Amino acid sequence: MRLLEEIKKVFKGEVLDDETTLKIYSRDASLFEVGPKFVVFPRDSEDLKNLVKWAKDNPGHSVTIRAAGSDMTGGPLSESIVADVTKHMNKMGEIPEHRGLTSVLVEPGVFYRDFEKKTLEKGLILPCYPASKDLCALGGMFGNNCAGEKTLRYGKMENFVLETKVILSDGNEYLVKPLSRVALDTKMAQGDFEGNVYKNIFNLIEANREVIEQAKPKVSKNSAGYYLWNVLSRALDTFDLNKLLVGSQGTLGIVTEMKLKLVQEKKYHDMIALFFKSWDELPQVVNAILPYDPESLETFDEDTLKLGLRFMPEIARKSGTGLISFAAKFIPEVLIGFRMLGLPKLIVLVEIAEETEEGVKEKVKRTVEAIKPFNVWSRVIEKDSEEEKFWVMRRESFNLLRKHVKNKKTAPFVDDFCIPAEKIPEFLPKALKILEEAGIDANIAGHAGNGNFHIIPLMDLRKESERRKIPAVSDKFYDLVAEYKGTITAEHNDGIVRTPYLGKMYSPEVLELFKKTKEIFDPLNIFNPGKKVPSTRSMGSESPRGIRGATSSGQADGTVGYLESHIIIE
Ligand SMILES: Cc1cc2nc3c(=O)[nH]c(=O)nc-3n(C[C@H](O)[C@H](O)[C@H](O)COP(=O)(O)OP(=O)(O)OC[C@H]3O[C@@H](n4cnc5c(N)ncnc54)[C@H](O)[C@@H]3O)c2cc1C
Repeated sequence: MRLLEEIKKVFKGEVLDDETTLKIYSRDASLFEVGPKFVVFPRDSEDLKNLVKWAKDNPGHSVTIRAAGSDMTGGPLSESIVADVTKHMNKMGEIPEHRGLTSVLVEPGVFYRDFEKKTLEKGLILPCYPASKDLCALGGMFGNNCAGEKTLRYGKMENFVLETKVILSDGNEYLVKPLSRVALDTKMAQGDFEGNVYKNIFNLIEANREVIEQAKPKVSKNSAGYYLWNVLSRALDTFDLNKLLVGSQGTLGIVTEMKLKLVQEKKYHDMIALFFKSWDELPQVVNAILPYDPESLETFDEDTLKLGLRFMPEIARKSGTGLISFAAKFIPEVLIGFRMLGLPKLIVLVEIAEETEEGVKEKVKRTVEAIKPFNVWSRVIEKDSEEEKFWVMRRESFNLLRKHVKNKKTAPFVDDFCIPAEKIPEFLPKALKILEEAGIDANIAGHAGNGNFHIIPLMDLRKESERRKIPAVSDKFYDLVAEYKGTITAEHNDGIVRTPYLGKMYSPEVLELFKKTKEIFDPLNIFNPGKKVPSTRSMGSESPRGIRGATSSGQADGTVGYLESHIIIE
């Protein structure tokens, strides 16, 4: 019997293998193309459970879970089965009226844009939303442990996950929430698959306490590797597997429901736009502003600004205004440009948001005072409609590049490093020199407050010589990030593009712990193989099929060779 028919026997949702569907699902927003065998649309968690059980009984097949597919790393790409949750698993619970700790139950296929409409009706927000908030869905936000413009104040997705329902590799669904010591002991004594996952992860963490603690990246945000250091909270005396599952790119289990914490949206806000002649004073200015607790501290470079100006009609459309009135909003900035004698090298957006109008005005006044000693031009923007022009430019820069640059493609492969913010002026010229020496042009935007920047190269990937540059430049670039004790990815995650480089920031001992983590959760390598942990090496004799089984079926192997051979050509 054809495999498709076999899957259909256990699966209520659609199972497709037509050329058009396979083509669509062979891409995300990364620079890779990987063709799946089947694309399935689970109706509910029963479907996913049955699919995982089917994959368990059919060696050589795996399940890669996918939400909106806006990942920039190849995370939701697979040569086996891709399961898209956005079609059917997209329900959202009611949001309770009361104030205080407010939470909402949501399925992974809900698009953030729809979710936000509902939360904002109640004056609430999930403030870790990414710049791709109009594209992404909640499952992928969990899978990547996303972050965005408000992360500086509120943190990443990991800070908002209260509970989840997760399908583990035995094909059963479990409730995952923080456990007290007593509850953990009970769980570990169960003697079943779930109990063994808890027991083995607990033992792994306890036995390697020091190595794990030292491996914790010393930066404000991180999405690289498995976050073993966050599971056991000695301060709270809790053990929370969600701290490991979030950001694991669907390699340890599939989330079927999340209980997420929401926060009150601040009622009042103003923006201070800063215009810099050079990058040199950025860290000092950031340090001067941080004590005033801005909600956002974002930045983009001159090239991104030029891009925004070039594609002003599209930016105007996105911000819901006509071109002329939109262009008129830039008059104050044009005047600043005259005074600066040219375009700024860098624009920094400082968002001050508080519960009262007076609170905002007071903080804005003090922030403006704090930046006076520096060589920057500034403008306080009080109108939402004027703020929006900058936000759209900041959020849309990658999308504009993706759509509009002729004969070149956005090649996100050094797109998300994070280093201690004070090192940025020293780090950036060295980082840009690596790209320059390879003849690569790039745009820069990012989260200045966190020291997290997105460098987006533009390349003609039809040329083999260009494609060859990607691993070579990644190698040098991530050596530099490691030298500055940074992370290779703060929010976008590892996927196909960075799994081969995890060894730049983690020791072989830590990589071994990641491998053991994967084996504890997923000994048969059913979930999204080759991401986070390479698939090439055998996992030892206890694992009948082991990680090597996946490689032989042609799935991602997490190596540079795999990365190189799957770069999009057309
Ligand atoms: C223009 C643009 C801007 C971006 N800006 C940001 C940014 O500011 N910050 C940021 O963090 N990212 C950013 N991204 C990357 C990406 O959009 C986000 O990380 C987003 O959260 C991914 O969501 P998605 O629904 O598209 O996920 P997908 O691409 O579908 O999946 C992402 C990962 O999550 C896993 N996953 C999906 N569903 C589940 C599930 N149910 N259970 C477990 N794992 C699951 C997938 O297997 C995959 O590995 C940007 C991308 C674009 C195109």
